This record gives sequence, structure tokens and C-alpha cells, in this order.
Amino acid sequence: MALVKSERLFAQRLQKVEESSTMQVMIAAQKLKAQGVQVVDLGAGEPDFNTPDNIKEAAKRAIDANFTRYTPAVGVAQLRDAILHRYREDFGIERQRDEVIATVGGKHSIFNTLLALIDPDDEVIIPAPYWVTFPQVVHLCGGKPVIVESSPEQGFSVTSELVQKHITERTKLIILNSPCNPTGAVIPAAEFLKICQIAAEREIYVLSDECYQVFLYDGLQPSTAAAVPEPLRPWVIVSGSLSKTYAMTGWRLGYTIGPSQLVSQMAKIQGHETSNPTSIVQLAGIEALTGPQTSVKEMIREYQRRRDFLVPALNQLPGVRCFNPQGAFYVYPDIRAYLRSGLKTSDDFAGRLLSQAHVAVTPGSGFGMDGFIRISYAAAYLALEEAVRRLRDFLRTL
Ligand code: PMP
Repeated sequence: MALVKSERLFAQRLQKVEESSTMQVMIAAQKLKAQGVQVVDLGAGEPDFNTPDNIKEAAKRAIDANFTRYTPAVGVAQLRDAILHRYREDFGIERQRDEVIATVGGKHSIFNTLLALIDPDDEVIIPAPYWVTFPQVVHLCGGKPVIVESSPEQGFSVTSELVQKHITERTKLIILNSPCNPTGAVIPAAEFLKICQIAAEREIYVLSDECYQVFLYDGLQPSTAAAVPEPLRPWVIVSGSLSKTYAMTGWRLGYTIGPSQLVSQMAKIQGHETSNPTSIVQLAGIEALTGPQTSVKEMIREYQRRRDFLVPALNQLPGVRCFNPQGAFYVYPDIRAYLRSGLKTSDDFAGRLLSQAHVAVTPGSGFGMDGFIRISYAAAYLALEEAVRRLRDFLRTL
């Protein structure tokens, strides 16, 4: 048998790619649940609500009408128009059909955007804490993530000054995610615009991941990078998703809005890759985007109620400090006061919390800022109350 060098078994591009830490927590929690343990699971980054009935009905109608064949790879025209309709209704902006492409979820939108833009060794600026997938997608595309740490003391909001300091000749893209997973932080509109201006001046793209766009509290109004002034638009790309907004995580529908030249490059990729998002899901998506938005508003109200309970309750725990975020459905409390020998990292902390108190949270290490844990409040109010009780008892044992 010929000798095979083990490092050549798999593509080099995978060498820097790490498994998703959020998935690892889910697996560990599921194992415990399968053993009959009552786990309070605050690890999941997905709505605990069901997909609204009107959306489910639209999918059923699509099946009955045999809308089950290939569609254009970019999605049917009505879906692309429905995405633009939502942006027109919510933000009063007009974009053209050739500036939007439907994708198989938000991840797919981000992945194809980067495939279309990133050459080997291109640098991609990513503010930390970041969503686990961003640096991994950069690695998969051969690029180099450049991590910019935001400050917990300043509410984790990245500033244009900080971003500017990390721009080099090789910077190709800046990824912004507001509201942010894992911190819930919202980048103030003026600062966001400044980053886009700095980027456009240097011919650097900005990818705005807006999958938590509608989840804003304290009366804050949603905004979008798709509404930047016309001269900036060649450099600004929006990645969106129906997963969280309409509680449709399993359906897999997202989109990119950006310059038409980029959209046609992405269409080229998608045509050879997944082809279209599932035909039936596309019709469900049209209903989601053009139908009544009442369920979205109800979900937002409920998330705010949960956040308003959770943040003060966490801040009352000795040694725990939790920034009060204005968006998404996560909080990112500081647990550094509890780290010491034997419990050095947030992974150790989250592991012990799960095995001892049966509360699943996600360690901050995977989000690029250790010493914190991510708690998802996309979970029942009662589960949050129980989690705080268990956390209080757990901390007493440390
Ligand atoms: N961006 C962020 C910041 C996310 O948290 C997620 C989901 N966890 C996504 C994009 C992608 O979601 P999906 O692929 O389900 O649309």
C-alpha cells in the first residue's frame, strides 16, 4: 500500500477551521437530556417560538400546487421583490431586483459573499466578541481574520477609530454584526456610517450581518446598511436571514443585498453549488415578508420582557457583571471573578455549570473574548428564572 502523509488527507483550507463551539454545547446538553436530566438550555441561538401559521400554510399550498421544481438559482423574482418590499416598507428605500439574491439561510449568504470577494491572504476585519462562524468562513475562503477587540466597559460597541487602526493594504472586507451575537450590542447609526465611509474611501467592502435586525429594545428603531447614501453602496453589502425574524431556523432562507456586480458573481457560485433555496420555502418566505408582521412584534415584546428580567437578575449575582444590551436575544455576562486555577477559562466554567447545575450556556472563548459566557434568552421566561436560581446556587459552590 502506498504511504499517505496524514496531513494531505484533507484540504489545507480546513486546517485553521475550528468546530462551532455553540454546536458543541448543544451536543453536550442533548446527551444529558437523553439521560433524563432536566437541563435548562440557554445555549441555543434560535427562537423558541414556532413558525407563524400563515407562513406554514403558504408552504403547504406550495406543495399542493406542485411548486416543487428547480427555480432560478437566485430565487424566484417574487421572492427577490418580497425582500425589497420589506426594505421599502421598513426603511423607505428602493433597491433593484438585480441587487438581491436569495440564499439557503444567512450562513450561506455570508459564505458566498466571502467566496466572491476573498483571495488568499486578504485580510478581513472582525470585531470581537464575534459570531463564531465569521473567522471560520474567512479561513475557509483562504483569507486572514484580523480581530479587533471591543471593550466590555463601553458596551462592546466597535468604534470607527478602532477599525481604522487595523486597516492595512491587504484589508478587503470589514464584517459588522449589529445587533451582535453574542453580546446583543448595537453599533450607533452614526458610528456605523463612519465605518462605511472610511471603508468606501479605501475601496474596502463592509458586510453588515443584519440577521437580528428587528430585535431591538427600549424603543430603538431598526436600521439597515442597505440605506447608506448612494455613493457608498458599491462597497456595502447586507446579509439577512428569515431564521430569527420569523422563527424559521430550520427552513433555511436568507439573502444578500449588495451591488449588482457582486450579486451576479454570487449567482454564478450558487448556480454550481446549492442552486436555488428550496422552492417550497421560497413561497413561505414571500408570505413571511409580505404578510402580516404581528407575530414578529409579539416576539420582540416577549424578548424584551425576558431581557428586562435577566439582566438585573444576573447583575444581582455576586461577582457577575452583565452589560444591558439593546438588541438580539443574548446577554454576555462577565464571569472573570470566578476564574482561577482549576477553573481557568469560560469553557471550564460552562462545562462545570452544565455537569453540576444542568444549565447550558455557551463559553465566551469561541466568540473571541474569554472570561464571559453567552446566555440566550430565546427560552421560556420560567426557564430563565430557574437558570438564575441554579446559577446562584452554583456560584456559591465555587
Ligand atoms: N449571523 C449571525 C450573527 C447568527 O447568529 C446566525 C445564526 N446563528 C446567522 C448569521 C445565520 O443564521 P441562518 O443561517 O440560520 O440564517
